[in-house]
Amino acid sequence: MTKGSEKLLFGKIALIGLGLIGSSLSHVIRREGLAKTISGASRGRETIERAAELGLADELSTDAREAVRDADLVFLNVPVGVMGKVAEHIAPVLKPGAILTDAGSVKSAVIRDVSPHVPDGVHFIPGHPIAGTEQSGPDAGFASLFENRWCILTPLEGTDEKAIKTLAAFWRAVGSNVDCMDPAHHDLVLGITSHLPHLIAYNIVATAADLEEVTESEVIKYSAGGFRDFTRLAASDPVMWRDVFLNNREAVLELLGRFSEDLSALQRAIRWGDGDKLFDLFTRSRKIRREIIEAGQDTEAPNFGRR
Ligand code: NAP
Repeated sequence: MTKGSEKLLFGKIALIGLGLIGSSLSHVIRREGLAKTISGASRGRETIERAAELGLADELSTDAREAVRDADLVFLNVPVGVMGKVAEHIAPVLKPGAILTDAGSVKSAVIRDVSPHVPDGVHFIPGHPIAGTEQSGPDAGFASLFENRWCILTPLEGTDEKAIKTLAAFWRAVGSNVDCMDPAHHDLVLGITSHLPHLIAYNIVATAADLEEVTESEVIKYSAGGFRDFTRLAASDPVMWRDVFLNNREAVLELLGRFSEDLSALQRAIRWGDGDKLFDLFTRSRKIRREIIEAGQDTEAPNFGRR
């Protein structure tokens, strides 16, 4: 059931949450013809109306329970903090044999909150596409979001192998590479590659905005000096990121401790004029940027390809 061999086709795919991730899934499912029917649910009437205008689903409802009826594959694309509540609501009507998965940016907490509600015979396979932008809502999605990105699955022990293979085939069909990982390890890896960078960005933007000797208009006017690159991360959805930090607390606090120590060491190097230390560290960082480009995870065009 992989791309290029037998065509992967689900009867009905339910998208619970129609923001950036849900709408991107819809676009790529349609492009690749992966479902006979797409059903979609979002809590707000405005999002549902917009989703209808955009043609994101064949059936739309503000009630997630309606959307998951008879679905073979169910995606939870809602903030991490409400995954458990949504799972509890849809559980009674999940179809036996269905695959239930999520896109949440944290895995241990989602497993803690969702697992207790999963009925026997439903295959719950937590997942996280490492793909996104700073935009949210039904207009933010696009079909190529997952192309050449990784999707991490964190299956629980004893999960049906066939179901894992089917879900992995889905992610490959939308253009992603797939890795399987222990949930706690996922949370640590994403803690350093995603959560901490966002926290640093939120913090530096707040610091700049609070500087009394530099006006806000100067911060904006001269932002091309580097500051604006942080503002992309810091423009991300506040609800999503509040939930990420509240639900990946241990890993983030551990990494923040390490980060603060390293920052103090840099502060010391600047204070004592230790140029060698600064030069060595900056040289190492440059090499990491090159490795990211070589791994196909960013463009090599200068300044992210901005003209
Ligand atoms: P989004 O664009 O903000 O969309 C969120 C969706 O969840 C909307 O349909 C929203 O409904 C619904 N929702 C919000 N609060 C809810 C609540 N209390 N109860 C029920 N539904 C609620 O978010 P997203 O970027 O697609 O993120 C969805 C999930 O994917 C999150 O768990 C996030 O951690 C994960 N993720 C995000 C990214 C990223 O870069 N954004 C990347 C990978 C994974 P209404 O619009 O109707 O209010």
